[in-house]
Amino acid sequence: MKDRLIRGLTKAGNFRFFAVDGTELCRVASNLHQLSPGEKHILGRLLCAAVMMGADLKNVKDLITINIDSVGPVKGAMATADCRGNVKGYLKSPMRENPDAIQYADYLPENLLGKGQLTVIRDMGLKHPHIGQIELAYGTIARDLTYYFAHSEQIPTSISLGVLLDEQGEIKKAGGFIIQVLPGTGNEEIELLEESLAKFPNFTDILDMEYDLEKIITDIIFHQFEVEIMDSMYCKFSCNCSQERFAQGLDLLERDEIEQAISDDESIEMNCHFCNKKYQYDPLYLTKYLLNQKDKSKNEAGKIQ
Ligand SMILES: [Zn+2]
Repeated sequence: MKDRLIRGLTKAGNFRFFAVDGTELCRVASNLHQLSPGEKHILGRLLCAAVMMGADLKNVKDLITINIDSVGPVKGAMATADCRGNVKGYLKSPMRENPDAIQYADYLPENLLGKGQLTVIRDMGLKHPHIGQIELAYGTIARDLTYYFAHSEQIPTSISLGVLLDEQGEIKKAGGFIIQVLPGTGNEEIELLEESLAKFPNFTDILDMEYDLEKIITDIIFHQFEVEIMDSMYCKFSCNCSQERFAQGLDLLERDEIEQAISDDESIEMNCHFCNKKYQYDPLYLTKYLLNQKDKSKNEAGKIQ
């Protein structure tokens, strides 16, 4: 089944909300990155948060990135989303690359992340992206993002994010919601919502009971309010990397390094962090690349004269 995301408002304009069933996109990420159960909780929650925050962007080229740098075994994580339900992400030091850390495999996400910083970057095509940063105080991601919205954006927010695993550690359900209080909302309305959230079980347990997103929002969370669903869209794990795009990475290498690979008849490999895809640049490609570079530098020299 395709993943889906909805967003909307309560009719009196007190709250706005986002809710996502990101089960499939989290499964895709988990397979691409060969995640351990603890890692599935971290990346799954981060992807679900990013795809909901992405849905709040205005333009198709805008991007939102949530970046975590931390001292725990996985060293942090990153997720990037656009406004059309495309999201991608990775862990900075996944356990598959660090088998010595395997004893941490069953650790809670907060232990895997450890202390650090969480940064939200909104790139809206302007000269400078909008950046907000907080200390990672909880490591559960939902609570850290709640803190981020309160302190960095001054928006009272309630966030639930979850990944439900079966006995084999496979993802059964993944999803969550973001609810924000709009200006002018009275205490009475906030108390009504808090009352309903206090009784609310785990989001993923409800998804597992085959409730759809609309039903969860209108019949459970906002059962005391009138709700308007503004948008419903499919969402997916999607990486836009390509052989050509990654060739730009060759610019960062020393010329000697490339020449050495050619004379050893070896390819240079580059790895996309986001989707774990590997790109090979064989000696023939590298030879052409160096010739091209020579032409480029000739042209530049020509300009100076
Ligand atoms: Zn990629």
